[in-house]
Amino acid sequence: MERENFINQLKDDNSASDWDFIVIGGGATGLGIAVDAANRGYKTVLLEQSDFAKATSSRSTKLVHGGVRYLQKGDVALVREALHERGHLSRNAPHLVKNQRFIIGNYQWWEKPFYTLGLTFYDILAGKMSLGHSLPMSKKDVIKHIPQIEQKNLRGGVSYHDGQFDDSRLAINLMQTAIENGAVMVNYVRVNSLLKNQKGKVAGVVVEDKIDGSSFELKGKCIINATGIFVDDIIKMDEPEMKPLVRPSQGVHVVVDRSFLDSDDAIMVPKTSDGRVMFGVPWHNRVILGTTDTPVDEFVLEPKALDAEVDFILETAGRYLTKKPQRKDVLCVFAGLRPLAAPKKSAEVAKTKEISRSHKLITSESGLITITGGKWTTYRIMAEETVDLALKSSKLDFKPCKTKHLKIHGFKENPDRNNHLYVYGSDLDNILQLQKNNPEYAKKLHQKLDYTVAEVVWAVKNEMARTVDDVLSRRVRALYMDAKASVEMAPKVASIMAKELNKDSKWEEDQVNEYASIAKNYIFS
Ligand SMILES: Cc1cc2nc3c(=O)[nH]c(=O)nc-3n(C[C@H](O)[C@H](O)[C@H](O)COP(=O)(O)OP(=O)(O)OC[C@H]3O[C@@H](n4cnc5c(N)ncnc54)[C@H](O)[C@@H]3O)c2cc1C
Repeated sequence: MERENFINQLKDDNSASDWDFIVIGGGATGLGIAVDAANRGYKTVLLEQSDFAKATSSRSTKLVHGGVRYLQKGDVALVREALHERGHLSRNAPHLVKNQRFIIGNYQWWEKPFYTLGLTFYDILAGKMSLGHSLPMSKKDVIKHIPQIEQKNLRGGVSYHDGQFDDSRLAINLMQTAIENGAVMVNYVRVNSLLKNQKGKVAGVVVEDKIDGSSFELKGKCIINATGIFVDDIIKMDEPEMKPLVRPSQGVHVVVDRSFLDSDDAIMVPKTSDGRVMFGVPWHNRVILGTTDTPVDEFVLEPKALDAEVDFILETAGRYLTKKPQRKDVLCVFAGLRPLAAPKKSAEVAKTKEISRSHKLITSESGLITITGGKWTTYRIMAEETVDLALKSSKLDFKPCKTKHLKIHGFKENPDRNNHLYVYGSDLDNILQLQKNNPEYAKKLHQKLDYTVAEVVWAVKNEMARTVDDVLSRRVRALYMDAKASVEMAPKVASIMAKELNKDSKWEEDQVNEYASIAKNYIFS
């Protein structure tokens, strides 16, 4: 019950020495910062208002990538940095990041030389961190590797390599890594306001424990705002007149059965009918299709896909696949909001895909440090820069970053990906042991999915899961594999959790209802 211990520690700590780092936000960005600061030896606490990775960080395309399309835009420095980070992440978390081959089908004569050249440059930028060479392919070869690819007018293809991962599992493992390095990490604790000292410098936070409703203060030397699309809320607590920094853009993905792309290779469509990039990526025995780029005004934890976005994805996928996915084939649809840095020129606002994906770091007059933008792939270097900047303006002694080669919790090379438990990496044996000690725990939660009772118990005991949504959406990925089946699993999961957390039947009932209302946005028909 680590969370409860941490909460007690935080409440008791009021009178003790200040925190060196208070990190607000438990997505990729905040988690990376907490790992970095704790690993350098600073006293660190991270506060997440909901669950770790509840927002954008569990809704990505699941790619650890340099970003082929940024290369098309000539953003070489951004791509090089991301390619190097891709290499570090695949070495530090090999249980979660895999080498993924992508194939671009060519339908015009110029595409093969054009993409071969561009992707060779991509390889050169990766240097020693390359995951494999890009190569031109014959039509026969393309069909051999992607039997479901549309063959009409197909001339050949080009293959290249990037990384592929499980985003929320990595988030949980980063949370565990930070704890192992001495950090205090809590979910369901929201920052409601900032504390300032007599000189007007930000010196702490007022927080609310969303589970027991209590409120308390924490004092700290470096306060970091890593709240993704919500950064402006925290900035307004500091400087009410500040202009918004973030321009959100919604990206939607559709999950379908593997039969639509029955291959170990992914496909990439470099230019869809409206000029976007579209991926079809095998993931946990399913295929993820996406994404879109739709400017939105709502800053919410549960964004909702528009029908038009889903139809666009299905229609585009149907042009490139022989088995055309229909609305009825959608197992899950999920939407995420990109915390894109707002453009300076108003003319750029309408076209969010033109807004830079690179991150921005800002220090306010009060000393609050805000980080916004970026990618999952670059979370480590973003954290390094943030901690370096915070240290510069604080009185803390400077200690250098050590995360380049830091193994992430669960580190295990060459996992057996045929076993769905592989995502647990070095924790896998503990789950098998749970199943061995109690045969009930080895039972599946739903006939359509592999997840077992042991995984729920493990998530509560070791991964700070506190709601049915935490378990079904981000500890196991049932919501993403089959949203309808996940709703059917909810009562069973609630009952297992109630036992572990000592909750009553009313709690169970509320959890099941709450989960059903979340999951309905992921079901499309
Ligand atoms: C559709 C889509 C696809 C993407 N695909 C990829 C990809 O394939 N590869 C890649 O590298 N990147 C990808 N990205 C980018 C990547 O997912 C994001 O850059 C990253 O997840 C952002 O993480 P974050 O921590 O900044 O934000 P978030 O994950 O949104 O985390 C911010 C957290 O702050 C918390 N918070 C907010 N306010 C408070 C408060 N007052 N108190 C406490 N906590 C608070 C929120 O609850 C939230 O959990 C994609 C993004 C999108 C939208």
